[in-house]
Amino acid sequence: MSRVKRLRIELKGAVQGVGFRPFVYRTAEELGLKGFVMNDSRGVLIEVEGEEEHLERFLIDLNLKKPPLAHLFSQGVDELPPAGYKNFEIRESEEEGRKEVFILPDIATCDECLRELFDTSDRRYLYPFINCTNCGPRFTIIEKLPYDRPNTTMKVFEMCPDCEREYRDPLNRRFHAQPNACPVCGPWLSLYTPSGELIAQRQKALELSLKMLKEGKILAVKGIGGFHLLCDATSEEAVKKLRERKRRQGKPFAVMFRDLSQVEEYAKPTELEKALLLSPERPIVLVRKKKELAPSVAPGLKRVGAFLPYSPLHHIILRNLPFPVVATSGNLSDEPIVKDNEEALERLSEFTDALLLHNREIRRRCDDSVVKVIGGSPTPLRRSRGYAPMPVGLPVKLSKRVLAVGGMLKNTFALGMEDRAILSQHIGDIENLTTLSAFVEAVYDLMGLYEFSPELVVCDLHPRYETTRWAEEFAKERGIPLLKVQHHYAHVLSCMAENRLTEEVLGVAWDGTGYGDDGTLWGGEFLLASMSGYRRVFHFRNFRLIGGEKAVKEPRRVFLSILFHIFGRDAFGVIDLKRTGLKEKEAENLYIAWEKGINSPLSSSVGRLFDCVSSLLGIRQQLSYEGQAAMMLEDLYDPFVKGYYPFELRDGEIDWAPLFLAMLEEKDPRLASSRFINTLAQITLRVATELGTRKVCLSGGVMQNDPLVSRIKESLEDKGFKVYTHRRVPPNDGGLSLGQLMAGALY
Ligand code: ZN
Ligand code: ZN
Ligand code: FE
Repeated sequence: MSRVKRLRIELKGAVQGVGFRPFVYRTAEELGLKGFVMNDSRGVLIEVEGEEEHLERFLIDLNLKKPPLAHLFSQGVDELPPAGYKNFEIRESEEEGRKEVFILPDIATCDECLRELFDTSDRRYLYPFINCTNCGPRFTIIEKLPYDRPNTTMKVFEMCPDCEREYRDPLNRRFHAQPNACPVCGPWLSLYTPSGELIAQRQKALELSLKMLKEGKILAVKGIGGFHLLCDATSEEAVKKLRERKRRQGKPFAVMFRDLSQVEEYAKPTELEKALLLSPERPIVLVRKKKELAPSVAPGLKRVGAFLPYSPLHHIILRNLPFPVVATSGNLSDEPIVKDNEEALERLSEFTDALLLHNREIRRRCDDSVVKVIGGSPTPLRRSRGYAPMPVGLPVKLSKRVLAVGGMLKNTFALGMEDRAILSQHIGDIENLTTLSAFVEAVYDLMGLYEFSPELVVCDLHPRYETTRWAEEFAKERGIPLLKVQHHYAHVLSCMAENRLTEEVLGVAWDGTGYGDDGTLWGGEFLLASMSGYRRVFHFRNFRLIGGEKAVKEPRRVFLSILFHIFGRDAFGVIDLKRTGLKEKEAENLYIAWEKGINSPLSSSVGRLFDCVSSLLGIRQQLSYEGQAAMMLEDLYDPFVKGYYPFELRDGEIDWAPLFLAMLEEKDPRLASSRFINTLAQITLRVATELGTRKVCLSGGVMQNDPLVSRIKESLEDKGFKVYTHRRVPPNDGGLSLGQLMAGALY
């Protein structure tokens, strides 16, 4: 007989709220081991006592058979003298010590719950809040750690005896499932008129909602991380009405489909895209259209953002409708997504014909995530619900606790501790007081949740970003240092971080604009970058953004500027002004502004060069949303078009003049846009070859362009370069905060 031993096992990682304790309980019981398991603020603590060989088996099973959603980051095992435990038990949580627990994201309804949801004999038949330890809300209902029911917004619902039994039974799938509920004891739905009168509750509310959607009405529906506005995605009348009410012009709407087969009726997802659609994170996935939904869903684009139901409520709604629905965030354009009932009645009423609310409170906003396959890899364009706040590993250890506030557009911020970064959910564009206060609220919320007090703050170099100003104030108030990091360097560092690189790389950072360290607006950068700093080795030749911000919305201003740079006043003999929609007088004024440099900052932005091409080719003269021109050019790309336009490299500058001179002769937009993208890949190859750095990181919003990234990868990898792209955080400004944390590592 082997010796009796006692082991104390400390597990850290995503181990709470995933059915870990019942799993430990079952495993110990099977092996006849005694002791206990409990959640503590650092993770899970286990003591097991028994024969040596059983303990060994226990340790193996702990790793091999753990629940699907559990992630172990570390495991500490100590041997102690036997304590003579009589049984194995699950103990209550302790509430002290530093918070190191990983909070799980919200997970889509699992298959078992789904089966019960549509089983007429199940007690949760059609119950819109069904969940278990393998699925359901987490991040959006937790108020503080440890993750226990009294610390969630479910605390107000007292479990009925049936639910209580499941919750207490270590062998049940709902053992310690914190949001456990049923129609007897849990939250319920209520349907309201826009003026705030109660129409119906529970099942009746659902039935009436479905009826209204079938009649082409617009509904505000409370989901997991906020409200959606829903309407029939095949009804042009309904979608147009939604556009008018939301005052949203061309920006595409996401569409929720009943299941994969319904997606395939309207779109052509690849195998990889199908896997993404079905993943437990359930992001919006950009897929190629096959059959047109209502034309106003994604006007002028070849792709549509598709996603599948991820909450029981969504499943019930979609299964009872013969059509897919537009499911767009419930907010005014550019404002944070609405999450509370009262807020919804106040702010969403004007958009909707009715509001479907429920009484499970959403503790924090969390927008839907967006993923696109770029250069063959799934790449987040927005990392939020389903992903946040899972940590991203850093290739370096931070010596301080770092708060990185991110940029201004598509903001996320990040908390850095040791070798981990906790990236926030998507906060959005921080351009006004409402969005700034949502940002500040979210920063304090996440810091509170992790009991995190920063010792260093990192922000962008841009003096007019609201986040920069806030960071300055915050650092002063707390008496801690502030580090400002150049925008494109942060982009490159972010790509380095997720690829675990610390050595020198060639960073290709192309985007709309970011503040350069010479005060001009950068955006077409080649940086030799490492952990200790960067050198701007090449950049696109500067051009004037006539009218500053106005140029961002009007590609024709960029086109004119480029022509003025090439031809001076003679430009007027080159272009057909009618095509741009500008009157002669307006164009003349633009020339004067350009010549005198009035409100016309210099920029090297590749994003703006895409705009220029779109104006030159007569595709878009004005934009109704950011990135529209680039998306339309991407759609025109033809992989069979070979060849590229001439360009010149000199004194660290890439001159686009030969490129545009050649493009002015091109008649076919398909050829022109394809060759433009090929040229950008060729430029990258030339620069990389000239510098000889073997590792190349691609980052910045322009790198959301699939054909561009694919061409760059092909041409560089062909010559032996190793190309790194984003897979965990967005290439756009949503990934900046991760790069800022990296910069904080050496501070
Ligand atoms: Zn489940
Ligand atoms: Zn119940
Ligand atoms: Fe950027």
